[in-house]
Amino acid sequence: MVVNKTDEEWKKQLDPQQYRVLRKKATEPAFTGKYLHNKEKGVYVCGACGAELFSSDTKYDSGSGWPSFWTALAKDNILEVPDRALGMERIEILCRNCGSHLGHVFDDGPQPTGVRYCVNSLSLDFKKKDSK
Ligand code: FE
Repeated sequence: MVVNKTDEEWKKQLDPQQYRVLRKKATEPAFTGKYLHNKEKGVYVCGACGAELFSSDTKYDSGSGWPSFWTALAKDNILEVPDRALGMERIEILCRNCGSHLGHVFDDGPQPTGVRYCVNSLSLDFKKKDSK
């Protein structure tokens, strides 16, 4: 981890909803996230530290109610950790740069990867292409 802030620092920096998802691993309710239907071209970055995580080019409608991507911009930017909470076997995804919670990754995505990165809008910021 490059960014290593205290809980107090994160609380100050993030709004309460972002804090609950990014730092306390909450999940935003399905179909409520602000990026679910975003079709603009650009890059999705970590809502906590700004690390570049996903491209709009690999975003697709999974029907799950959360922004979904079939690959990450750089696999190295994302950490995968087994998650057995809620009686489910899942793989949690975290921003490797700051350790913040992003969502989960599943193996039911479309080709060519067959992977579905299922990400909370609240874990992301969007940098529109050509915006400075
Ligand atoms: Fe981050």
